[in-house]
Amino acid sequence: MSEKFDVIIVGAGPGGSAAAYSLAKMGFNVLMVERGKYPGAKNVMGGRMYAYALNRLIPEFWKEAPIERKVTHEKLTLQGEKASFTLDFMDEELREPPNSYTILRGKFDQWFAGKAVEAGATLVSSIRVDDLIWENNMITGIVAGTDRIQANVVIAADGAVSLLSEKAGLKKFDILQFALGIKEIIELPEKTIEERFNLASGEGAAQLFVGHCTKGIPGGGFIYTNKTSLSVGIVVSINSLIEKKIESHELIRQFNTNPAVAALIEGGKILEYSAHVIPETSRSELFTDGMLVVGDAGGLIVNSGITLRGIDMAIASGVAAAEAVKKAAQENDFSKQSLSYYEELLKRDFVLQDKETFKKAPEFLQNERLYTLYPEFVCRLFHRLVLVDGPKKRAFDELLEESKGNRIQMFLDMVRGMRSL
Ligand SMILES: Cc1cc2nc3c(=O)[nH]c(=O)nc-3n(C[C@H](O)[C@H](O)[C@H](O)COP(=O)(O)OP(=O)(O)OC[C@H]3O[C@@H](n4cnc5c(N)ncnc54)[C@H](O)[C@@H]3O)c2cc1C
Repeated sequence: MSEKFDVIIVGAGPGGSAAAYSLAKMGFNVLMVERGKYPGAKNVMGGRMYAYALNRLIPEFWKEAPIERKVTHEKLTLQGEKASFTLDFMDEELREPPNSYTILRGKFDQWFAGKAVEAGATLVSSIRVDDLIWENNMITGIVAGTDRIQANVVIAADGAVSLLSEKAGLKKFDILQFALGIKEIIELPEKTIEERFNLASGEGAAQLFVGHCTKGIPGGGFIYTNKTSLSVGIVVSINSLIEKKIESHELIRQFNTNPAVAALIEGGKILEYSAHVIPETSRSELFTDGMLVVGDAGGLIVNSGITLRGIDMAIASGVAAAEAVKKAAQENDFSKQSLSYYEELLKRDFVLQDKETFKKAPEFLQNERLYTLYPEFVCRLFHRLVLVDGPKKRAFDELLEESKGNRIQMFLDMVRGMRSL
């Protein structure tokens, strides 16, 4: 291929497709290169997408996109060693406008890349980009095998382990800055899912698990309900996995056999197993001469402890990258200085605002007491409250009794938590 494109986008995940769709609609000649057999073939995702960013780009996308279920139930399970405590939050107002949907990436990414193609972008799959072309210190294209393809701008949308941002000298790969996500898709009949999660037809649940399920390792488990399957998995700190010498497949096995989880997945058939890293604290510079970095490649992910958001961040950053390319093209200037407009756009939008708001969260979430002491404390306290085996104390006295010896630590953690999350 020797043609020159206005923009080459590497990676057809949500970040790449959002950029390609936006640029193609603006009339640019766009090439999207994906190493998987099809977009979504290589993507691992727990299964929930917050709707806000995509709804701005494609209003009411849920009317045409392959979504699984609208999430109306938010559940949080705190797991002690012998007990678990579940909060079930059901909110009518999460129905309209919809807050989040469960999706299966194999289907969703194909649909989204298809929208970019419909808008005029060219997609080539099964091609891995190996390197960048440089001319006079500017990035001017990509190398894929023996092909060299030129463009005014390259957009790196190549995910968490972004080869391109490393090749461009924008980041150094350090495995300890990543979390590990492991996911299984477990097939179950539609009715069984709705009964087990107490759902109306078409509605969905997102359940997070914190505590004993990760054996004290910072992280947690999740179950998201799809139409006829569950996305079940864990996300854990790689640093602690290495320190504690725990095998990740052992953790997911323990998670699945845990009574609170086992009852929900019972009788299901595992259709898919996958593992992937999440750039929890890894961050790349976002622009250089001739190149922009979007989504996971730039470390644009936010874990607030309650919400893990990467897809909406990738989509919003893809759209901002397209806007920055448009401005650069109008000025016919693709230098680093001109493309810095991209970062300005991200700062005006939720992407870098949320990164800033939750910048202390990753460090706070490394606190092992969140996964050991506190879930156990809540379970023990409720055990005391519900048990009748003689004279009872008032709830407040039980609280004082159960927290004895840990109160100062708990208070300090609470203050840190309020500053971080
Ligand atoms: C277990 C797990 C659970 C998660 N749960 C959630 C969740 O519930 N909600 C949420 O919002 N986010 C979640 N995330 C994060 C979310 O998956 C990412 O933030 C999101 O996929 C980022 O999109 P992206 O387009 O930047 O990158 P990706 O989706 O990773 O897409 C990158 C694309 O680039 C392609 N590619 C890579 N290298 C090359 C190359 N050299 N040449 C050509 N193509 C290449 C890949 O094949 C891929 O298609 C989760 C992640 C994991 C691992």
